[in-house]
Amino acid sequence: MGLIPDDTIAEIRTRADIVSVIGQHVQLKRAGRNWKGLCPFHGEKSPSFNVSPDKGFYYCFGCQKKGDAFTFLMEYQGKSFHEAAETLASELRLGGHEPFFAISDLLRATLRHRPDRILVGEVRGAEAFDLLQGLNTGHLGSLTTIHANSAEQALTRLAHCVLTANIGLPHRSTREAIALAIHLIVHIARQAGRRVVTEVVSLRRYDAQNEQFVLEAWSSGM
Ligand SMILES: [Zn+2]
Repeated sequence: MGLIPDDTIAEIRTRADIVSVIGQHVQLKRAGRNWKGLCPFHGEKSPSFNVSPDKGFYYCFGCQKKGDAFTFLMEYQGKSFHEAAETLASELRLGGHEPFFAISDLLRATLRHRPDRILVGEVRGAEAFDLLQGLNTGHLGSLTTIHANSAEQALTRLAHCVLTANIGLPHRSTREAIALAIHLIVHIARQAGRRVVTEVVSLRRYDAQNEQFVLEAWSSGM
């Protein structure tokens, strides 16, 4: 997965032709400014599924399903946001042959769906900031991985990734936000061809005076 700029997503949103996107799956007939068809989301004999090309939205008066071109592909075809955006981008021939997406775009899209937990496969850059935001707004039990040589280095690395988001958050605030967001760090290393757990520590707080994270060996009683 590569990187796609935010403005490409915005361009897909404004340029996607919802009538042609939905029209590939549902037979639509013109009805004034809108288009109408049999709703693909519930069984019906007379059409209550409306598509508005002006608003870029569909709405079903029968089952109240509604959304835009992205939502339609996600709900009708079970696509992820990423896959839906790729489909739309390739139909619009945006971004050449390889549509690009940033993890931070996907993360922001995920947060809009109010998830209980967030799993980010690997933090490598600017998405670290969005992840921190997510973690500090009640998404407990979330999980991510980051490459580092120790648990403590993982935190420093995470802070550097937040920096790349270019939000202008001061050094100290970044570290304090990390200390609030992250509870437990499990360090896994490869030894003699096997992955072994080398450290399990809990992150107590950030000590701003000494500029260091306060870590404690984890025990399940805490
Ligand atoms: Zn319906």
